[in-house]
Amino acid sequence: MGLGGSHPWLQQAQPHLQRWQAQASSILSPHWARYQPFFEDQTAWVDSQLAQYRPWQLVLVTVLASFVLYSCLSTFASLVSSIQDAGVKATFFRWLKKIPGVQYFVDKELGKYQKKIRDGFKKAAEGGETPLVSLPVQNLPASSVRARLREKAKGDVQIAEQDSLVSGTLYMAGKEHQDLLNEVYASYAHTNPLHTDVFPSLRTLEAEVIAMTASLVGGGASGNPEVCGAMTSGGSESILTAVKASRDYMAEKKGIKHPEMIIAVSAHAAFFKAAEYFKVKLVVVPVGKDHRMSASSVKRAITRNTILVVASSPGFPHGVMDPVEDIAKVTRRYGVCLHSDACLGGFVLPFARKLGHPIPPFDFSVPGVTSMSIDTHKFGMAHKGTSVVLYSSRDIRKHQFTQITEWSGGLYISPGFAGSRSGALIATAWASLVHMGEEGYLRVTQEMLAAAKKFQRGVANIQGLRVVGQPEMCVVAFESTHRSVDIYKVNDLMTQRGWHLNALQFPAAVHICFTARHVNVVDQLLKDLQECTERVRKDPKCVKDGMAPMYGMAAVMPDRRMIGDFLTMYQEELMTVSV
Ligand SMILES: *Cc1c(COP(=O)(O)O)cnc(C)c1O
Repeated sequence: MGLGGSHPWLQQAQPHLQRWQAQASSILSPHWARYQPFFEDQTAWVDSQLAQYRPWQLVLVTVLASFVLYSCLSTFASLVSSIQDAGVKATFFRWLKKIPGVQYFVDKELGKYQKKIRDGFKKAAEGGETPLVSLPVQNLPASSVRARLREKAKGDVQIAEQDSLVSGTLYMAGKEHQDLLNEVYASYAHTNPLHTDVFPSLRTLEAEVIAMTASLVGGGASGNPEVCGAMTSGGSESILTAVKASRDYMAEKKGIKHPEMIIAVSAHAAFFKAAEYFKVKLVVVPVGKDHRMSASSVKRAITRNTILVVASSPGFPHGVMDPVEDIAKVTRRYGVCLHSDACLGGFVLPFARKLGHPIPPFDFSVPGVTSMSIDTHKFGMAHKGTSVVLYSSRDIRKHQFTQITEWSGGLYISPGFAGSRSGALIATAWASLVHMGEEGYLRVTQEMLAAAKKFQRGVANIQGLRVVGQPEMCVVAFESTHRSVDIYKVNDLMTQRGWHLNALQFPAAVHICFTARHVNVVDQLLKDLQECTERVRKDPKCVKDGMAPMYGMAAVMPDRRMIGDFLTMYQEELMTVSV
């Protein structure tokens, strides 16, 4: 044993080591003596076989063989992980695409769809002004700008005071409300909360919007006074911000370096985006038959790396609420954050409860809820572009801030993703909240819930349809009970009649999100739905174009990445000038 050196400890250890070595060789030597001749024979034989090669050849073959072995092992590993991620069928198709020619065929099919979409956009733009791909050399006078925009908006849904045939999307109640917000927008259009010294009013407006929103969901004087938050540009940004803050909070608190987040399949798309942006591993758990996330599935999915669990209050697809109280028991026990996503429900559920509806606890009144997202630009009835993210304590919120002390541009702190923001959006959100007031939201909530309940009862009477789950709010999803009724075809027929409903998948369903604009259209909606369902039932081939073939294809497509490629292509076409 080459343990030289003059350290006294080593010198003391030396005799022991020598003794162990002697013991080991006395145990091993008889065996070695038995096998040695055999070993000598074998190695001599290998040497004689290799004698004909030159050393460089042996080195080269060894290197190449190692490389091939490594490639085989890593291909095998990627096959196994692909099967784990995507299943056997999808993996088979992914590999199939690697065969020359197959990818060509797939691209050609994609190209056909692309051309169809392009032609559609071109047709829609026909007859209008020449599309602009560079600045007009001569400036357009204000009157022509107005005229051009009027022309462009001809195909858009008009937003005056009329009833809406669009699911969600248009939330604002009444012309007076809308005119007020437009006026406020115009008067604040030039302001920026980054410069509170220049626009001090924005500071108080933003702080008041956050405080008023917090007071609805268990924060403020009557709840947990620690609840604090920030305004963002929308629900997705509130969610991204909460995930980022929770991740960094948990990194500090528990030293978690490989964060994981548990969501249900029904959680909003923004959580998938957050996982992608912030390198948080997404653990997606299925929902039960009632379309809710269960506390037991959360418990099974928790690991040492879990930073956050997400509950929807309610979820976008079916409007059902996850059991926040039960889930909070699990997250408290394991010391992980819990986000209650009330983007949709924040400005409805508190009022529904006041009106006597049995709304389960979903907010900061539940110990363990650490963050929430609430959209002022949905049922808060403000202009698009605002939402509120809330936290149970400043300890978490501070992780959404960025402070830079070493910038030559000065001492800098920014609360969120944006640098400069529009003060007009803050002012309009404030105006919407105070113009509605508790009384206004109660009135609108009562009307919307009555419309949703009436619709639910009506769907129960339509042969071939049923409501999905038990919607607690004003989002109602319905699915087909009849094999011959393709719900996507029903939706296509509804689109032909001017409705814009939302298609859902897993299970195939369609939903409508009732807003203040729908209170007078429920009878018409039910009549149309009854007739369209009847038509599809009698003649399943009655619709050719539309979204049904797309969803039909997506449902059976083994490799989900191919659908992803299709979506990317579609997005690219949306962002291209049609010339
Ligand atoms: C709308 C919504 C969001 C966020 O959507 P944005 O379009 O970014 O405002 C998040 N969660 C739920 C449940 C929603 O309905």
